[in-house]
Amino acid sequence: MQLRFYNSLTRSKDIFTPLDAGHVRLYACGPTVYDVAHIGNFRMAVVFDVLNRLLRHVYPRVTYVSNITDVDDKIMIAASERGEDIVTLTQKYTKIYNDDLRSLKCELPDIQPRATDHIPQMIKLCEDLIARGHAYVAEGHVLFHVPSFPAYGGLSGRSRDDQIAGARVDVAPYKKDAADFVLWKPSTGEQVGWDSPFGRGRPGWHIECSAMAEAHLGLPFDIHGGGADLKFPHHENEIAQSCCAHGHTHDLSHFAKVWIHNGFLTVEGEKMSKSLGNFTTAQDLLAKGVKGEVIRYALLAGHYRQPLDWTQNGVHQAKAQLDKFYKLLHAQEVLEADIPHTVLEALADDLNTPKVIAELNALYNAGDAAGLKAAGALIGILQDNPRAWLGLDNQADGDADWITDLINARAAAKKAKDFAMADSIRAELLNQGIVIEDTKDGTLWRRG
Ligand code: AMP
Ligand code: ZN
Repeated sequence: MQLRFYNSLTRSKDIFTPLDAGHVRLYACGPTVYDVAHIGNFRMAVVFDVLNRLLRHVYPRVTYVSNITDVDDKIMIAASERGEDIVTLTQKYTKIYNDDLRSLKCELPDIQPRATDHIPQMIKLCEDLIARGHAYVAEGHVLFHVPSFPAYGGLSGRSRDDQIAGARVDVAPYKKDAADFVLWKPSTGEQVGWDSPFGRGRPGWHIECSAMAEAHLGLPFDIHGGGADLKFPHHENEIAQSCCAHGHTHDLSHFAKVWIHNGFLTVEGEKMSKSLGNFTTAQDLLAKGVKGEVIRYALLAGHYRQPLDWTQNGVHQAKAQLDKFYKLLHAQEVLEADIPHTVLEALADDLNTPKVIAELNALYNAGDAAGLKAAGALIGILQDNPRAWLGLDNQADGDADWITDLINARAAAKKAKDFAMADSIRAELLNQGIVIEDTKDGTLWRRG
């Protein structure tokens, strides 16, 4: 089976040839855990989960690494604003992130390294870069010296003017060059920090991924991914650090061979982001009773490289499609089947999920429930019990009484605007393995 992916580094759709066909290695930049992630963040998670599933289908072994950034200035600010310590805060949001991943039917990465567990590796990278003349120490900082790496900018294609455009206004006086970026920065008394040969401090963001990718995958590895906004500066800087630390100053692909970037999730044409305030979290949607699989389907409805506009209508359509498919799965006895070739071909062609969805509809129209279910598994949908999905089990359940009582109590709490109580009843139900969904016909429940 031949896979083809658009590689941001070569700017072409290339046939994928793993470095080792017996073990494919994939890295995707994960979240900075200072708050609840929004649906835009999960577009990346769902896209790379689908890629991971495809690779696993084709190759005998895949290692998928996706990091948790648990030291960052945004985290420090959030912790001090909320009066929480950093470890408590990052653990809380890591857990919520992983709960959301599971709700969205993502397999957890094989390895989810935390930045704070890799400080020695980051310090070592800084030392190697200094020793090779690519970095220098200034006022407690370690900085990467961009002019030492003429190939810099090759991933994003940014000119030198564009590289320094953001920095020009206020270039730190200790920088030798306006484009130089921070590998390590000093921490003052109460700020989180680690002892290092450069003084007590903490890592810059980019060095974290260089250290974690190398620690868990070795260099070079096959595929590196993330959102398109990470191309510059984050991924450009990862490449610079990792290539230069090992003396590969001409070959940008000595860090990762293939670079895959997902487009933005947008709202009315604008990037969904915390700072614009136009964001929706998975938590919000799940609490409103939108199923994780519906969110997932809506995120896969567009091609991963294109912007995808998030609309109510998109969510409704995703639900209607999945309901339709589950009805066929419910109507027939579904036997084990191979993944239909049409579906595999579509996904193998640069993860063409809109084509996959068209093929799912063709299978539906042909009444091929077995093919539909096998195809669904490849992109992480249609694996629920159809009766449970369609809410058909509720009445027959011997436990229904206590569940109905709790649902009624929650409705009463909501009516009385006691939302804390309503939420705690929902949590209690979830604790007992019962997932509820508010619909126009009332609250439905199923075993989750
Ligand atoms: P952040 O926490 O902002 O570093 O983002 C975590 C991941 O989500 C990165 O891979 C980003 O590129 C990605 N991301 C953030 N916002 C969006 C968006 N609106 N659409 C798609 N991906 C996004
Ligand atoms: Zn990264």
